[in-house]
Amino acid sequence: MIQAQFFEFSEEQLAFKDQMDRFVDNEIRPHARQWEEEQKFPRDIFNKLAALDCLSIGFSEQSGGAGGVGELLIMIESLAAGNAGITLSVYVHMALACGVIDHLGNEEQKEKYLKPGMRGEKIGCWAYAEPNAGADVTAVQCQAKADGDDFILNGSKLYITNGTFADFTVLVARTSPEPGLKGISVFIVDRDTPGFSRNPMKKLGMHSSEMAELVFEDCRIPKTCLLGPLDKGFRAAIAVLSMGRAIAAAFGCGISGEALRQTVEHVKTRQSQGRPLAANQAIRFMLADMKMRLEAARVMTFGAARLIDQGKPFDLECSLAKLYASETNSWICERTLHLHGAQGYMMESDAQRFYRDCKVLEYGEGTSEIQREMISAAILAD
Ligand SMILES: Cc1cc2nc3c(=O)[nH]c(=O)nc-3n(C[C@H](O)[C@H](O)[C@H](O)COP(=O)(O)OP(=O)(O)OC[C@H]3O[C@@H](n4cnc5c(N)ncnc54)[C@H](O)[C@@H]3O)c2cc1C
Repeated sequence: MIQAQFFEFSEEQLAFKDQMDRFVDNEIRPHARQWEEEQKFPRDIFNKLAALDCLSIGFSEQSGGAGGVGELLIMIESLAAGNAGITLSVYVHMALACGVIDHLGNEEQKEKYLKPGMRGEKIGCWAYAEPNAGADVTAVQCQAKADGDDFILNGSKLYITNGTFADFTVLVARTSPEPGLKGISVFIVDRDTPGFSRNPMKKLGMHSSEMAELVFEDCRIPKTCLLGPLDKGFRAAIAVLSMGRAIAAAFGCGISGEALRQTVEHVKTRQSQGRPLAANQAIRFMLADMKMRLEAARVMTFGAARLIDQGKPFDLECSLAKLYASETNSWICERTLHLHGAQGYMMESDAQRFYRDCKVLEYGEGTSEIQREMISAAILAD
């Protein structure tokens, strides 16, 4: 499908995009339907991405990272066009679990978790959400109580992507009863720690990724597992989550681009009243609107990435890009389903999958309402 040229990528970035698109064609598309049906994440994907040096993209040079956030977004957009569930698992491992360690970890923690994570040898999950803590980040109740040289964890985490199999968990827990973000710390917990168990969860979409409830019952971890400052770690991790919004935006653009590509193919071939659907102006105008919104979302998304890579402030831009790209993605996926008619409603079609997969991008990294809160606060404070 023709690509609008609003945003100028470098020659290297275009070559990398080609490489990623080929990876998706060879390693993801041929197997995606089977993974969706089995609802199992193919862990080998991490080894294959590591073999292409893709798992170190976007991390700091001091940690051994290569390539900027722009390259990471190119990769996520390409992967998302192939399969959203796979992309979700890769995104959580790289942008959240490893991203927070890159930002807050000491040398020992980077050596033990981040470097094996960049080689695809250890896979991480990010455990923030709880039964009573979702959009409200201050409501975290999972507790980490200091006890001699250890912390004792008690509580549970819900909806944790990669939680079924992750080798390490980057965990958000309360270390003091102070209100708000104060008193919330971040820890790294190894998979086989006694008192740590997991229960798989089933979900509406993203079936190629796996999710679990994580339960901590008198789970003892050494104080060396503390990631970042005591009581202030979660506040310090917020910068990473803000950056994650640009990645979530690229995720949405990837799904939208594939949904639109398949819709264009469909309306060119599907006949109604003796002519293709595309012969109707009502349908062509819908395609034009889908394209217009997708390209606007891409400009905002890659523009936000450029700000991050240039070391400029990016919070507002990442929020705007994430809000617009995720809501645009839901709108495009709904139009895609509509234009595919009953054929799209069948479980073997991709249109129904896009429709199920898209919604979660409006929740993660701050829901749409939370983005609107932050954006309006920034406007009013000016
Ligand atoms: C597929 C999937 C994967 C996930 N993976 C992870 C993961 O790996 N790790 C993790 O920690 N979490 C994960 N989550 C959970 C995610 O963090 C939460 O969905 C998110 O934090 C929002 O919380 P919630 O869904 O409980 O919404 P709630 O907090 O229950 O909010 C419900 C609705 O009310 C709105 N709302 C809430 N408060 C306000 C307000 N003050 N003003 C206006 N509107 C408001 C919200 O915007 C939302 O629309 C995942 C979720 C899904 C569905």
